[in-house]
Amino acid sequence: MNAASRTIKSRSVFGSRAEVAVETHSDGVAEEEPPGKAGTCSNLDEEPPGRTATERGRLFGHIPDSAWNDWRWHFRNRITTVDGLANFILLSSEEQAQLKLVTLKYPLSVTPYYLSLIDPDDPDDPVRKQAVPSILELTLGMVGQEDPLDEKGDSVVPGLVHRYPDRVLMVLTDICPMFCRHCTRKREWQNGGWVRTPAEVGAMLDYIRQHKAIRDVIISGGDPLTLSTPRLEGVISGIRAIKHVEIIRIGTRFPVVLPQRIDHELCAMLSRYSPIWLNTHFNHHREITPEAAAACDRLLRSGVPVNNQSVLLRGVNDSVAEQMKLCHGLLRIKVRPYYLFQCDEVQGTEHLRTPVEAGLSIIEGLRGHTSGLAVPTFVIDLPQGGGKVPLQPNYVLAKEKGELLLRNYEGQLFHYRSPRVQAEPAPEALSPLGGSDAGLLVETGVYK
Ligand code: SF4
Repeated sequence: MNAASRTIKSRSVFGSRAEVAVETHSDGVAEEEPPGKAGTCSNLDEEPPGRTATERGRLFGHIPDSAWNDWRWHFRNRITTVDGLANFILLSSEEQAQLKLVTLKYPLSVTPYYLSLIDPDDPDDPVRKQAVPSILELTLGMVGQEDPLDEKGDSVVPGLVHRYPDRVLMVLTDICPMFCRHCTRKREWQNGGWVRTPAEVGAMLDYIRQHKAIRDVIISGGDPLTLSTPRLEGVISGIRAIKHVEIIRIGTRFPVVLPQRIDHELCAMLSRYSPIWLNTHFNHHREITPEAAAACDRLLRSGVPVNNQSVLLRGVNDSVAEQMKLCHGLLRIKVRPYYLFQCDEVQGTEHLRTPVEAGLSIIEGLRGHTSGLAVPTFVIDLPQGGGKVPLQPNYVLAKEKGELLLRNYEGQLFHYRSPRVQAEPAPEALSPLGGSDAGLLVETGVYK
């Protein structure tokens, strides 16, 4: 590290002057850093609500409330270049050159709001890892697959994936307010921003109309809330007009990366087409800000239940302690931790993936140690469109005539007796692997 001196300069950020510290190294290279480096909060558990107002003051104090509270302002002012990012986050010249290479393949997009959650001084910041590119996206780029879930293979018409019998996935756009570095669909980022045309949406609705087994339609992305509310309403009203569709689900990360989007106009519209469920994607407890909490509260008060699907990410949330904080924080804002996904085998995400055992250890560390409401289902979405498989630590150690040997969360062993009079199992209860016992692991052999 070179010896450095620090001076304060003024530079233009979003058309206004903001103060930035300029670090001058002894080799003559000057690196700029975002304003207000001092005072970074590291222990969020001890922080009172209103944290983002503090962080916002550091980086965006010159932005008036009228702009800050307007999701369109954030959307227009997304940071999409490495040069733009370097106005806020300390990046060496070498890093900037590397990241420019990465963004040629995997573009960058982060909202000013989400940027305000990042500690600009900490290269290992768990929030930063989700938004700021890494050279490892290229150096490990050949590991994995572009489309590991084979969504193309299950597409029945453009934009409509029909994998499970009773539900379909509608992908309306590839535009997102933020490009999450672990995204399963990052292959789409290279195609520029597209939104399905009315004719394409019509073809999707026709397919759903013709397939009466479909009772659940998931609208996901890219992020569907990038569409204007009237345009989104056009799609939702079309789905709701199909009698056999019972529920509509929306997959969106807006409550996390741009909660201002969850405005009264949107909530009022969603409430007209009940039941609509919304799945969002908090990965770290520091994303649960007062703004995010207020967005979820607006949804809940509009009759839209909110569930969370997080992705297990190396260095972000891959410990029991982090997951506990995340899940407790979610319950405090009345959001149910629903799924914890093993990170898919997507090219450009290998550096963020964890071993499957890490997820199992986390579930083991949560189950019994906290309320069952706070324990998400850990799942792997199988390659080649195999679908989701839930994974659990093994609590059933063996089975003997009419008895199970179980262990509890503290490792204590218990025998559990089945009813003496056994009803014949219904055919659908039998596993295709050979009967109702097929899911049990009888590893010891003692109780066979
Ligand atoms: S919001 Fe969802 S679809 Fe968009 S980049 Fe993030 S993970 Fe991918």
